[in-house]
Amino acid sequence: MRSALLGLIVLSACAHNHKTNTPVTIFRGAVIIDGTGADAVVDDLVIRGDRIVGRGEVDKAMLDGATIVDVSGKFMMPMMVDVHTHLGLLAGTTTAAAHYTRDNVERQLVRFRDYGVQAVLALGSDRVEGFAWRDASREGSLAGARFYSAGLGFGVPGGMPPIEMGFDQVLRPSTPDEARADVRKLVGYRPDVLKIWVDDFWGKYAKMRPEVFTAIIDEAHRHHVRVAAHVYHLDDARALVAAGIDIFAHSIRDAKVDAELVAAMAARGVVYVPTLSIDEFAFAYTSSPAWLNELFFTNACEPGVLEMVKSPEYLERVRNNPVTATERDAYSTALHNLKALYDGGVTVAMGTDAGANAIRVQGFSEHHELVNMVAAGLSPLEAITVATRNGAKLLGIDNDTGTLEVGKQASFIVLRANPLVQIEDTRRIDAVYYRGRIDRTSARY
Ligand SMILES: [Zn+2]
Repeated sequence: MRSALLGLIVLSACAHNHKTNTPVTIFRGAVIIDGTGADAVVDDLVIRGDRIVGRGEVDKAMLDGATIVDVSGKFMMPMMVDVHTHLGLLAGTTTAAAHYTRDNVERQLVRFRDYGVQAVLALGSDRVEGFAWRDASREGSLAGARFYSAGLGFGVPGGMPPIEMGFDQVLRPSTPDEARADVRKLVGYRPDVLKIWVDDFWGKYAKMRPEVFTAIIDEAHRHHVRVAAHVYHLDDARALVAAGIDIFAHSIRDAKVDAELVAAMAARGVVYVPTLSIDEFAFAYTSSPAWLNELFFTNACEPGVLEMVKSPEYLERVRNNPVTATERDAYSTALHNLKALYDGGVTVAMGTDAGANAIRVQGFSEHHELVNMVAAGLSPLEAITVATRNGAKLLGIDNDTGTLEVGKQASFIVLRANPLVQIEDTRRIDAVYYRGRIDRTSARY
């Protein structure tokens, strides 16, 4: 009995020693917005290696050899998760299949990480070779934010998404049987979700037929893969919910949602990703928005984009485009619908469609999407929770990251101003810590 007890004591002392061998870093005095939706609090945050190992009162044993980082007067929030992006499609001011290289994908992942985005889901513009890069990213052998992928999306023969924009590997089944066969082929690559386009681009293209998207969703579910839909119209949203869709990758923007649809989406757990910024970007540059001259924006732009959005030719084209007025209406309808769905209990995650074209700037868009969610009526705390914990949940990584809780990855942004007072202040980045390592200081912003 006695020797058994002694053995236990020795064992626990060893475990303790081992734990304290690696020194910790203590971030002292910041206001912590932890991504759980809880009120922000002034708290110490303790990390060891890539993990958060303590919050609040610090265990005395941990103080040995600890590095103290004074972050008093600053604000900390988790790195964000963007569940609607495109990687390697854009370079400069154009999108093209030829841009899809490992280097271009990695360059964009690095930009996302520099701007405080730790994981991105690319929705349907990836090519077959991208699965290997996705795997490399997840193992940590590709730099930047972690890459999640829908692989090749599902579109319509001769329709959405337009081949000339670089979507030449998109699967375009014309019958339910072809759709099922395509799903079976694609799931062999282990896509994180599937992506379908259900839209006619203001009447320009044929829309995916309900029997085709129903077959895709059903076959995907047989293989335990979720389906995200590009959606625009209320009628399509209703049909997609009835067919079992898992994720709306855009706002419903042609009409206000009704109580019946809100209730159905909440009951079925459909996740809503509003991508509000894209509707605003479609017309925003014509009124010289304040951000246009901020380094935080200009440093994120691909070469030539800033010159493009300031050029009289571009502005003239936007002003003369008959669709621009529709985009303005779509934007305000989208703001309304986000608030209605959020209040109705629908889970919302943050997405931006960044990288789908030149005016949807990767890195900047995520911060701007927070501004738009607040414009829709969410509180800054709610918007941050949507952009952190909820995105991690959607990707199935919330046990590991997405909030600043003990045991999770030490992936967070240190801010110089309080985003709960002014949501634009998520742009005032002091430092980004990704998996415990400082990645970027304010120098570049
Ligand atoms: Zn997209």
